[in-house]
Amino acid sequence: MLTSLVELAELLALRTSPQRAVELLGFIPAPALEAMRAARFRRTLRIAAERSTFYRDQFRHRGIDVRRIDHPSQLGDFYTTGEDLRSHGAEAFLVGRADTAFETTGTTSPVPKRVFFSRREIADMGRLSALWLHVLGLRPDDRVISAFDCSFWVSPYVLRSGLDLLGCFHVEAGKIDAGEFYERAKQYRPTVIFGEPSWVVRLSEIAKVRGPWPLKFLFAGGENISEAARRAVEDTWGAPLYLNYGQTESFGALGAECRVKDGYHRNDLYFFFEVPLADADGYGEVVYTTLSHRVMPLIRYRSSDLTQLVDGQCPCGISMGRLAKIRGRCDEMVVCGMGNVGPWVFDEVLRGITSIGGDWQAVIGHDGARDTVVLHVEMEDTSGQRVLEARIMTNLRERFGDFWRNREMQLYQLRVVVHPIGTLRGHGRKLRRVIDERQMSSHPSVQPV
Ligand SMILES: [Zn+2]
Repeated sequence: MLTSLVELAELLALRTSPQRAVELLGFIPAPALEAMRAARFRRTLRIAAERSTFYRDQFRHRGIDVRRIDHPSQLGDFYTTGEDLRSHGAEAFLVGRADTAFETTGTTSPVPKRVFFSRREIADMGRLSALWLHVLGLRPDDRVISAFDCSFWVSPYVLRSGLDLLGCFHVEAGKIDAGEFYERAKQYRPTVIFGEPSWVVRLSEIAKVRGPWPLKFLFAGGENISEAARRAVEDTWGAPLYLNYGQTESFGALGAECRVKDGYHRNDLYFFFEVPLADADGYGEVVYTTLSHRVMPLIRYRSSDLTQLVDGQCPCGISMGRLAKIRGRCDEMVVCGMGNVGPWVFDEVLRGITSIGGDWQAVIGHDGARDTVVLHVEMEDTSGQRVLEARIMTNLRERFGDFWRNREMQLYQLRVVVHPIGTLRGHGRKLRRVIDERQMSSHPSVQPV
């Protein structure tokens, strides 16, 4: 009874104006929301066990009786992985009629994962997107231009659904060359720009030379970005850059930044988040269960993203809990002579160095018995390599005492290789930032969960 009342309140809230919706959702007491989430979880589990061949077989094989499960943690070591989606095929996960599908390749395999959805789910996610964009200040008189990649990717679809509700002017550019985008987009005088982080960085480099125009904000999603790169973008435009955290599997928004930009406010209405095996700092792989997907539910889906759940009050005043800024991908975590390293380590080592571009890649290999860490960076003027190397070593010494000592002890070699701007990424959408070449031949990658 309580749950259906809360669901009714949520339904009404999401169908009213974004401003009213924020107020209405804020009135739902936390215990009532928790009860609704628990009820949605049990419903998702029951439907999955009844209709999806993958979940039915898994639960039977593991002796799991879903009628006895009230919380995801009671499922023990049962998880769903991206590899399950690839090897079993998306059809094995279906519990309802699909209207559309999207794909994602990720950084570990060239084989795409396929994910199915319904139009109703698109509309629901669009409502939430509209609500959040309203919170960030988007209004009907804003002029939006998006450079999201439209090929098999969910983000432009969800964005369009949200903007239709907000009723603002919207041009879809697709992911084209940032220089061409700059010239063509400028004609429309957009006040808000959407794109992938690395593409937004490139656009901003161009705008810095050719001249920015007034923007309300930029919004990026699809990959991580270093704080240094974010600052460069914001300084160029004199406007904030907000980040979305999502996966195609989750159909876009798992969370999004508020004005404070300290982690992503979680979409707890539609997802149940866990970090089952957190380290001493509370960090671990975030695992989520969909609570409202009626076509292809995901139960304890391993995101491969390293973060922590933050439940303290955010200075922005919004009560929804957060996911901390993503530290990196689990499959990018490498144990080597340097120590336990991931993308955030190299982001930090390169922080404050202005002579390099936004993209970099670290390749772990070996030279005889010793590990090598080759840090590939992009630079306009390659004659500055010696100075750059000295800066990197200084940063390493000052910011990572342990990694520096391991180098002094000759546990590994650190080399820096410079490339022309824009060459590391090639034509791919995602750049795998840490590669362990020692494992490429035969060993499977280390899995923290
Ligand atoms: Zn906040």
